[in-house]
Amino acid sequence: MMTVKELANLTETSVRTLQYYDKIGLLPPAAYTDAGYRLYNERSLEHLHQILLYRELEFPLSKIKAIMASEDFDRYQVEVNTLCQSGIQAKYTPRIDLHDPVELKEAIPLRTPYVIYIDPCDTCNFRCKFCPSGNLDLMKKTPGRGHGPMDMTLYKEIIDSLSEFEDPIRVIRLYKEGEPLLNPHFAEMVRYAKASPKVLRVDTTTNGALLTPERSLEIINAGLDRINISVEGMNAQQYKEFSGINLDYEKYVENISFFYAHRNQCEVNIKICGDNLTQEQEEQFYNTFGNIADGISVEHTIEYWPKYQEMGVDVDESVTLLGGKSREVMVCPYVFYEMCINSNGTYSLCRFDWNHAMIMGKEFAGKVTPRRVWDSITLWTFQSEFLNKERKLMTMLSCPKCGILKQGVPEDIDKYVDEILDKM
Ligand code: SF4
Repeated sequence: MMTVKELANLTETSVRTLQYYDKIGLLPPAAYTDAGYRLYNERSLEHLHQILLYRELEFPLSKIKAIMASEDFDRYQVEVNTLCQSGIQAKYTPRIDLHDPVELKEAIPLRTPYVIYIDPCDTCNFRCKFCPSGNLDLMKKTPGRGHGPMDMTLYKEIIDSLSEFEDPIRVIRLYKEGEPLLNPHFAEMVRYAKASPKVLRVDTTTNGALLTPERSLEIINAGLDRINISVEGMNAQQYKEFSGINLDYEKYVENISFFYAHRNQCEVNIKICGDNLTQEQEEQFYNTFGNIADGISVEHTIEYWPKYQEMGVDVDESVTLLGGKSREVMVCPYVFYEMCINSNGTYSLCRFDWNHAMIMGKEFAGKVTPRRVWDSITLWTFQSEFLNKERKLMTMLSCPKCGILKQGVPEDIDKYVDEILDKM
């Protein structure tokens, strides 16, 4: 065991910093002396080294705390250490934002959602095996799908109506079901949202195939804050097999490199699914994209939809998106802080509602706006069902068998339900 002063000296930190880490629950002491002084052990030392490494990588303390409490902690350690040793400048950054569950517990019920997904286009230029949006026959059979790009007039009405909320939206996420850049007005959508006093940040997720230099400059100049690029293979052959398209792979990498070089304020995150990659290809991924991205990650396949495996995709349910050990939670945190608007203007209860089985707002007379939907009885009832631990009893929705709550890096707010229910 060592005292706080000894630990501080050993790691060149200050006693004050260690006291603060204890106060915020980031690094509690292993024990106390009879007189109440803090004592630390080897495990504390290991944890502190990890915290200091994340600090060097400029992670905020709230995020470090969420990472260290998550099931994916071991995976983070391996990946972060690999990147630090490899000379690659990108940080290991998952594209899913981790919230601090304690912050969520205190903030719920939110007067204003943190995140609004708005889908610029629900169709896709890829035909990926795992994705319903690329399956044209399935799309034809699914009511509400195959709509195409969102109408700009409708989009502007949605952004204008955010003035009904008391607080600004933390993130407008221009993405849900399809390839966002298939909307020819994508840059204009970014610019319009960024000009709204009710929007703090705008980001998107794309396959990146349409990122020509002209398009990239247009989007960067419009003010996009973050772009997540999903890479689907490490060569043209893999793209052909997995995504059903002919891709000029060298040009693709060159275009992403151009985006990165001109990115200004826009953070570039690149991820790939590692399940179909050899060890050599995974290294190749880091080497190819590690210096043309701010953040990078290798993911595992997770079950995004209940019938996912029927689409011929193998899923190992025992691992999380980032390779940790999966563990199921009962309460879906997403429904408490985000909402989703489809490209045809309908509202889905969930961002994974690919078949539009969870549409809400139809019951309203008159104009449906995000604020009306957020304050609706429908949403309140839905949230309450989770808090009452009734998820497994929901009959019509995808929620009872949701793989996301097992593998999708969810914040675990199960233990706070009583406090949250009291406030609702
Ligand atoms: S439990 Fe799953 S399907 Fe239900 S709202 Fe949450 S993420 Fe969506």
